[in-house]
Amino acid sequence: MNFIDLTHEIKNGIAEYPDDPKTEISFFKKPTIDDSLALLEYKTGMHTGTHIDAPFHYILNGKKVTDIPLNDLCGRATVIKSNSKEISLPHNHLEEIVIIITGECNNFGSYDYFHNNPYLTNESAETLIKNNVKIVALDTCSVDKNGENKIHKKLLENNVCIVENLTNTDQLNRKEYYAFFIPLNIDCEASPIRAFVRKVD
Ligand SMILES: [Zn+2]
Repeated sequence: MNFIDLTHEIKNGIAEYPDDPKTEISFFKKPTIDDSLALLEYKTGMHTGTHIDAPFHYILNGKKVTDIPLNDLCGRATVIKSNSKEISLPHNHLEEIVIIITGECNNFGSYDYFHNNPYLTNESAETLIKNNVKIVALDTCSVDKNGENKIHKKLLENNVCIVENLTNTDQLNRKEYYAFFIPLNIDCEASPIRAFVRKVD
């Protein structure tokens, strides 16, 4: 089985969304010549690198990551390319997952990546909701224009989860894939994920 990995590597120094917690991977117990045991600890914000936003991120009493069944975290995905700042979506049929390629992942970490990102229009959010899309995934830092949150709220209150900061999207040359966005089973509003796709059978 050939998979395409769409996940940023998590490491010290990874770019965070401005004002988010810093990522820190450090030794809790460092191996020595006498004792080779290694134990590491990991501190991070939940929105660093490739991650999924669950409804609880913006919706009081909304679903957390632990409430999302595995069935809703993988499935057939429609791939859409967008070259414009305002991402609009076609009105024809969309699969249960929608992957949007903007190419912005090639600027990951830059000032513009976090401050001048392409974003979904209100109409695009409505199209996703109407099509019962479970996950919308992008290679940008946010579904919203910098400084706004209305698209996050609209999608999450309709239980459309959001995957942000995909990478390697230039390797997606098909219109459809089978996608997997697998978070930790963690009682949080968001989680780092391993994001990958394979060809549809
Ligand atoms: Zn997020």
